[in-house]
Amino acid sequence: MKKNIGFLIFGAILGLVALSFIQGYLINNTYELEKKAFVQETKRKIFRFDDNVAAFDSIYDVVGSFVVDQMIDYKLNRLKKSALLDSINIVQESVNAKYISLCQETFEKQNLSFPIKFQKRLKSIIILDSIKNDTLIFNPTKAETLFLLGETFDLKNAYGINNSQTTTDIERTYEENGLQKAINLEFQIVIQDYFDIEGWETEVLKRMSGILALSVLIFALVLGLLYYSIKSLISQKKIADVKTDFINNITHELKTPLATLGLSTKMLRKGSDKPELINATVNTIERQTVRLQKLIDQVLDNSLGYHEIQLNKENVDISNYLNTVLDDFELSIKDNSVVLNRHINTDNHKILLDKFYVTTAIFNILENAIKYNSGDVVIDFKADFTDNLIILISDNGIGIPNKHHSQIFEKFYRAGNKEVHDVKGLGLGLYYTSQIIKAHGGEITVENSIQGAAFKIKIPFKA
Ligand code: ADP
Repeated sequence: MKKNIGFLIFGAILGLVALSFIQGYLINNTYELEKKAFVQETKRKIFRFDDNVAAFDSIYDVVGSFVVDQMIDYKLNRLKKSALLDSINIVQESVNAKYISLCQETFEKQNLSFPIKFQKRLKSIIILDSIKNDTLIFNPTKAETLFLLGETFDLKNAYGINNSQTTTDIERTYEENGLQKAINLEFQIVIQDYFDIEGWETEVLKRMSGILALSVLIFALVLGLLYYSIKSLISQKKIADVKTDFINNITHELKTPLATLGLSTKMLRKGSDKPELINATVNTIERQTVRLQKLIDQVLDNSLGYHEIQLNKENVDISNYLNTVLDDFELSIKDNSVVLNRHINTDNHKILLDKFYVTTAIFNILENAIKYNSGDVVIDFKADFTDNLIILISDNGIGIPNKHHSQIFEKFYRAGNKEVHDVKGLGLGLYYTSQIIKAHGGEITVENSIQGAAFKIKIPFKA
């Protein structure tokens, strides 16, 4: 059964992990799709530059004619390639601020709910010489494109759009040695636009918030149901185990008196002319009947819950009361090897409690200290009074392993170690004790101790 539950839990957890992976995979796919759709939509929106076409064109004209001039100077050997590229900075500085504000103005018109940056980069310039080979002025690898206009940003997360290639053929005149000469310039220029959306992840996640919330909710629900099912499965199993133990224990307890009763009945049936023998048999029957009655009473009484216990409280002097309880206990044990140390520091304080029940509770703990001994028994009984009555009872017996502490006050619960198995019991004493203390508004706890077991009882002053 234990193995089955283990497998079941393992299977359920495995299923949940698999489900989480599938869900994660689907969410990731949705995220990628949403991201794609968002980028496409943004692309479409920011390309509606129609309103500002003239303003943009005038900037492009300034830059274009400057670059053409530089290329002509290059073709006339008046400028080097590197100087040509460096000179682009000059025109850039003069128009870039205007270009950026124009871009932002255009984006604002689209009512975008997120900030966006735009940039133009030069991919290549090639002078197409008809006679010689074409001259590559600038034709770098993808990563080394040249910043032309717009705002600066890291290209790693940016989106490249609108790769435009233009081929132009221009006739220009220039002066040389006082003469006007004509020059022809045919070139190809490739420009790439990039845009960068700040916080696009948040924007995409915002769009997915519905599906995300729903999947988190479903996942939490499945997790909660699974947790609840496993928890109740374990507790059902625990209850079943505890009940089986209880039935075994009580059967064991009933067997001896029943066997004796059976034997006695047989003897009586056979008949005897010896009155002493009849008398002794009747006495045995009586003793065993009382024993059976006591056993039944114990099960019935000790099974009461705290709300079923009818308290009959009285104001008692704590010190007197506890000393009387301990005196009675010492009288009830016929074993001289039990040492009971008393440290009762409650002065003349009084408290409201039901003497009968609290005595039963204290007796249960003291009797257990003897039952679960590991040789000579030494019990320390301490009582203090601050705002509450605090009683600490510790022994030097077999002790209670920490893993049982949380269950030790449950009905029928017995720590399952071998030493406990050898001691008779129904697992009701501590349950009943805890219910009595609870009925007084107090609490009982089992304390960690290096040797033996220790119990702490707290009963509030105004119980
Ligand atoms: P029972 O003694 O009939 O089993 P109790 O409710 O009195 O039932 O105790 C429950 C369990 O707590 C015991 O079976 C035992 O395992 C453990 N226990 C209680 N008192 C002690 C103690 N003083 N020392 C060691 N174990 C204890």
